[in-house]
Amino acid sequence: MIPFLDLQKINAQYQNEFQEKLNLVLEKGWFILGDEVTLFEQEFAEYCGVKHAVGVGNGLDALVLILKAYIQLGKLQKGDEVIVPSNTYIATILAILQADLVPVLVEPNKDTFNIDVSFIELYITKKTKAIMPVHLYGCLADMPAIQHLAQQYDLLVIEDAAQAHGAQYNGIKAGAWGNAAGFSFYPGKNLGALGDAGAVTTNDDALAELVRCLRNYGSVQKYKNDYLGYNSRLDELQAAFLRVKLPFLDIENKQRLHIATRYCHEIKNSKIILPKLPVDKEHVFHLFVIRTKDRAQLQHYLAQHDIQTLIHYPIAPHKQNALQQWNEKSFPISEKIHQEVLSLPMYGVLSDAQVEKIITTVNNY
Ligand SMILES: *Cc1c(COP(=O)(O)O)cnc(C)c1O
Repeated sequence: MIPFLDLQKINAQYQNEFQEKLNLVLEKGWFILGDEVTLFEQEFAEYCGVKHAVGVGNGLDALVLILKAYIQLGKLQKGDEVIVPSNTYIATILAILQADLVPVLVEPNKDTFNIDVSFIELYITKKTKAIMPVHLYGCLADMPAIQHLAQQYDLLVIEDAAQAHGAQYNGIKAGAWGNAAGFSFYPGKNLGALGDAGAVTTNDDALAELVRCLRNYGSVQKYKNDYLGYNSRLDELQAAFLRVKLPFLDIENKQRLHIATRYCHEIKNSKIILPKLPVDKEHVFHLFVIRTKDRAQLQHYLAQHDIQTLIHYPIAPHKQNALQQWNEKSFPISEKIHQEVLSLPMYGVLSDAQVEKIITTVNNY
């Protein structure tokens, strides 16, 4: 079986370094907010090309803490509207709801899967205060156009960069385009920890300071609480593991791009629509998502030939039971995407033989 994602094999590459880090942290006996977190924050900020990175518990919290911090700073208020793509992973929408803000769903472009900027203006009202683009599947949203709109309407731009570590356009990386960005280091992401982890990136000093405070009980000085904060800290051990993997992120992303390029050039089957290889952007292919009208048959066929695939995502956010108030709304582009998408295995340690087998099998379908 070719697994959809082989986390065992991916992390085995770093096993000795992980073990050294575990020993180091155990010897120090310091597990929360220590040197490893501080160093990872510096290294990740430098990698993204921003002034600040703040380690937090996970990607959802990264987004929630950004929004809550902007509320504290007076730049957002309860009830403000936030524009978000209708086909995102539900976390983006949950973050907006958890911050008592109102998500306004805007349809994606079906070729890029990212928010269709030409629709955004139709949804801007007096209450619109922010746009949250999602760099879905590892490809940057149209950030220059989004920035232009944001300037015109005085909106904050908060990137959901959970799938886009290292993606770039014009030399500017994911996490460095917006006023702030949220990253996830969930094990399956392009930069994955060995458990939950996340980070906020920003060039805004006040925002960085406040997120740093909110993640740790709203306290700057121990036992003195200036805000009603949260407990969402990046673990020292996870930071240490992430520091092992960060120097190899670009190599892993290149391996993904190499496999994606092979898939795009060698898969030839009229029943399948391939994603576009962007000519100008550096796509990091967190996922390789194809579309097909008869997805169930294709997925079954691939499984019979020992190739595991997954669907990202099978149910549109507005069709989820958790969001019943939206179930009757219509987002036809998202709905079509959700019916047709299928993700092929995509990770650096896929062997040439495995890639070859996936291509041949898809072509024989
Ligand atoms: C993974 C993901 C998140 C949430 O990250 P967690 O670390 O699982 O909380 C948010 N948005 C997108 C688009 C994601 O893919």
